[in-house]
Amino acid sequence: MVERMSNIVSRPRLGISSCLLGKPVRFDGGHKRNNYVTGTLSEYFDFVSFCPEQAIGLPTPRKPIRLIKDAGEADVRAVEVRDYSLEYTQQLDDYARSVTPEMSGFSGYIVKKDSPSCGMERVKIYGKENSPPDKRGVGIFTARLMAQRPDLPIEEEGRLTDPRLRENFVTRVFTMFRWQSLLSEGLTRAGLIEFHTRHKFLLLAHDETAYRELGRLLSDLSVKAVAADLDSFAAEYLRLLMVGLRRLARPGKHANVLMHVMGYVKNHLTSDEKAEMLEHIEAHRKNLVPVIVPITLLNHFLRKYPNDYIAGQYYLEPHPRELMLRNGI
Ligand code: SF4
Repeated sequence: MVERMSNIVSRPRLGISSCLLGKPVRFDGGHKRNNYVTGTLSEYFDFVSFCPEQAIGLPTPRKPIRLIKDAGEADVRAVEVRDYSLEYTQQLDDYARSVTPEMSGFSGYIVKKDSPSCGMERVKIYGKENSPPDKRGVGIFTARLMAQRPDLPIEEEGRLTDPRLRENFVTRVFTMFRWQSLLSEGLTRAGLIEFHTRHKFLLLAHDETAYRELGRLLSDLSVKAVAADLDSFAAEYLRLLMVGLRRLARPGKHANVLMHVMGYVKNHLTSDEKAEMLEHIEAHRKNLVPVIVPITLLNHFLRKYPNDYIAGQYYLEPHPRELMLRNGI
């Protein structure tokens, strides 16, 4: 079923590991304040914080926990480092199950890396012997969250230092937020088709396969009377959209989209303008200039030669320009 937001909210609401907001909830009584989150993203997002270890009743400070898995075991377990008989796997999993419904209106989640509770990937899993840890673990809380909310954009704070991963995450968050706004207004066939139309070039920049697949799905919606169950149709649409947007938009893909967009104005461009536009696109394709450079020039030409279809494309501004996320990719 498609989740509907109970209230229309004016900006994205995200879950976050409490320690990243500077709350002293870690095992050692400290925190891991993330300045990009508290100084920049908090200008655009509302954060709701969760500390799973505190929430299951562990004190602060407390003995640290870790993930373990014996050779013969199927499941990873969260146990106290000094005493493996003290296990918290079930409590963390139950807590995640209990709070996930509260997150139905969330547009994303930022988790603390390396944590046996909150980490999203590459969390160390220890064996019983003194062998080196396997770095393929996922924190117990986040594993459950990802299973319950597979479409929710989730990212680790450590990965947000990478400009392309950061831009990708924020793009997904704002896309999810626009989707949730669409649902809160009441989903209609026309609304879904317009949503897709406006996200076409953005999706193309991330994943051409998903772009084609969703195009086919939407043409079914336009042509056939498949909207009897619009909710399940929309759930499948969102799933494919989020899978597609997870793929990184790299310079070659941006260059291809920019060539497409340029096609809509090229008949108006003088030969000098056309050459200038092509030069900027090719410079980005070769990764010599960030994508904001050709996009800025394109926007200049779009102001000079307006085109309603292109003006409506979120590709040109998928997130607030003040975040300057496209200046570094
Ligand atoms: S990583 Fe998660 S469990 Fe650990 S202190 Fe931070 S919020 Fe709490």
